[in-house]
Order: sequence, then structure tokens, then C-alpha cells
Amino acid sequence: MRPFTSTIPLDEARRRLDAAVRPIARTERVTLDHAAGRVAAADVTSPLDVPPFARSAMDGYAVIAADTTRATKTAPARLRQLDRIYTGQLSSVTVAPGTCAEIATGAPLPSGADAVVMVEETAKAGDTEIQIFATATAGQNIGRRGADITAGDRVVTSGDVLSPSRVGALAAIGCVDIEVFAKPRVAILSTGNEVVEPGQTLAPGQIFDVNRFTLGAIVAAHGGAPEPHRPAQDTVEALVEALDACAHADLVVFSGGSSVGERDLVVDAIAARGEMIFHGIAVRPGKPTAFARVKGTPFFGMPGNPTSCLSNAYILLVPFLRAIARLPPPAPRTVQAPLGRRIVSAAGRHQFYTVRLRDGVAYPAFKGSGDITSLSQADGYIEIDADHSVVEEGAMVVVTLF
Ligand code: AMP
Ligand code: MG
Repeated sequence: MRPFTSTIPLDEARRRLDAAVRPIARTERVTLDHAAGRVAAADVTSPLDVPPFARSAMDGYAVIAADTTRATKTAPARLRQLDRIYTGQLSSVTVAPGTCAEIATGAPLPSGADAVVMVEETAKAGDTEIQIFATATAGQNIGRRGADITAGDRVVTSGDVLSPSRVGALAAIGCVDIEVFAKPRVAILSTGNEVVEPGQTLAPGQIFDVNRFTLGAIVAAHGGAPEPHRPAQDTVEALVEALDACAHADLVVFSGGSSVGERDLVVDAIAARGEMIFHGIAVRPGKPTAFARVKGTPFFGMPGNPTSCLSNAYILLVPFLRAIARLPPPAPRTVQAPLGRRIVSAAGRHQFYTVRLRDGVAYPAFKGSGDITSLSQADGYIEIDADHSVVEEGAMVVVTLF
């Protein structure tokens, strides 16, 4: 056994990770159907006006506003209807004084007209006469050409995350595809002689691979492209070979083999191929976490225990991945709640303690670092800093929701 010579505080680990961020430079073109959630890699300016023509914002009548002066319910203006204009067609008529045209929402305004009166303020009288019950002002209920976007306007700026509404703005200007930053490729690999892929029969002493799936899910949820690999055996040769197989990735995440047991050989594999930036953090769960650079590629060595692994993925991997993916930092939601049962934590280590929310009360949900249900049956976690070891029942705690 090789004990940790030292651990670093969580803040120090975060500083070293921040310093190691190299935002991705690779770009690719994606069609608009695949653009949501991606990060624009270039400005996009509009080649056209939106709307491309003046249009009605209401179902009603296109009129000359001056024809409706002093119109009221009892003394309506009376106009002769010239045309009925639907969407997708131009009207050939010109609205002259004393006339109007029925018009649908989104239909092009006919020439001559300068206002639209909504249908609720009108009535038909006879075959072609329309009564107008309210005074219209010039420009009312009209969407001016270019009112939304003017040709030459910047619709998206490089670095913008393409939200549904930004995808909509791109669609409005007829954009087919857009240059975005590539998703960081994240190679994910579990280590351990006992770790078996699902679909196989478990031999005595074996367990199914959990971490590959939790890590893959979290990577995909935060802008990465997960690349799962088969579990590697606990030999330095197998781990070095696995590292080499992951060399093309933008980020490599191993789990297991990073603690101090004699079979925990990830440290030796790193020594053979790269440089360790830290190994061992004063957090619980998740102390045996390593971060290294392997031929320029950042490398996370996560603890094997599924809850430790996933917990540190939330705390350390997600902010790092989002930064290289050029996404904004995670914005976790928090709620305040009284603690339902006293917690005693390990002093000297920053502890993340999972809780379940029931009727506004936070109940401890943490079972053990090896138990995935410590997380899967929790709603969030509370943090107990290194200087505190007890949180009393009833104390108000801040729960960070998953
Ligand atoms: P290690 O960090 O390799 O010492 O592993 C710590 C514990 O986590 C051991 O009980 C392992 O069997 C377990 N473990 C390691 N990797 C995985 C994995 N990918 N899925 C589920 N459990 C794992
Ligand atoms: Mg192991």
C-alpha cells in the first residue's frame, strides 16, 4: 500500500483545474436541426429583412387611417371592401380613400393602406360595405418590413450558446447550417479486474460497470461527446495501453485504480505517459481523485466507488468540461430546508452529503461511497466544510439540487 503523501484542499484543486482549461478550438458545421445547445463559432449577420415585407399583425381590415377619424360605435366610418388578402399572396389592389381590404394576420399590407383595424372593431354591412367603429392611427397593427431583423443585423455572436430562441432567429433569416465549436471528445474508461460490461454473466467476484455509464451521461449532459471504452485490467501495461488508445480525445476520464491499494496503478500509468497535476483532494466522498496531463491531453482519474466518482464528476469534471466546451459555468439550483436528522461528518475534509427532500425537510440520503443509491435516491446534496463536523437536526441547510 502507498498512502497519500498529502491531499490538497478542494479550492486548490479547482484552481489547478481552472488553470488547465484550454477551450476547444476545433469547429464544425451543423444543420439548424442539430444546432440547439451548441456554441456558435462565428458571427452570423442577416442577409435580409425580417419580416421581408410590411404585414398585418391582426385579422381585420387594411385601411387609410385618415378615413377613420372620429369613427365610433354609433358613428362608424363606412369603407368599401376591395379585396380579401390571405397570407402568402400579394394583393394587386391599391387602397384608395374610402376603401379597405380584408386582411389576415401575416398577410402583406396592400399599397395605399397605412393601418389595420382589428376585426373586432368592425362589422360587415351589405356585400362590400365595412363599418369601422374606432379611430385608427397610422402604423397600427402593422409589422414594418425589417422591424424584427434588418439586413446586416448581427443575429448570433461567436461564443453564444444556441438557445431555442437563437435557433429561431437563425431560421428566420433562412440559415441552413451554422459553424459551431466541436463538442470535446471525452474518452471514458473503467479500470478493475472485477468490472464487467452489462450483458455478460457475472462470475464470482465481479460487478457490472457503473461509472462508465454515469460518466457518459454527465459528459453528454454538459456539452461533451462521450466515447466509452471497454474496462481495462489492473496492470500498468493494460492501463498505459488504454491511455494510448484514448490519446486522440480532448479529455480522458478513467475511474478506479486511483486510490492507494496495491493494485491501484493509474498513478504508475500516468508516470509512464504524462505529468500529475494533483492526486488526492480533501473531500468526502472522492478523495482519491487525480488530475494529470498526458501528452497535452487533460486526464481525470476518478475514484472507483460509484458515488465518489459521480460526486466528483459533478463537482470537478462538469465545470472543467463546460469550460473547454465553451459553455457557461453550471448554474445549480439550490433550496433551503431544515435538516431532518443530525449528520456527523469527517472533520478536516470538505464533505458533500446527499439528501432527500420530503415535505420541505432534507433527510440524509448518504449510505456509502460505494453505493450508487447514495446518489440515485437523493434529490441533492449539502456541503459541510472542512472546519465543521456536525450539523444538528433542524438546522437550515442549503441543498444543491441535481
Ligand atoms: P478502486 O478505486 O479501483 O479501488 O475501486 C473502489 C471500489 O469501486 C471497488 O469496490 C470497486 O469494485 C468499485 N468500482 C471500481 N470501478 C467501478 C465501476 N466502473 N463500476 C462500479 N464499481 C466500481
Ligand atoms: Mg480498482
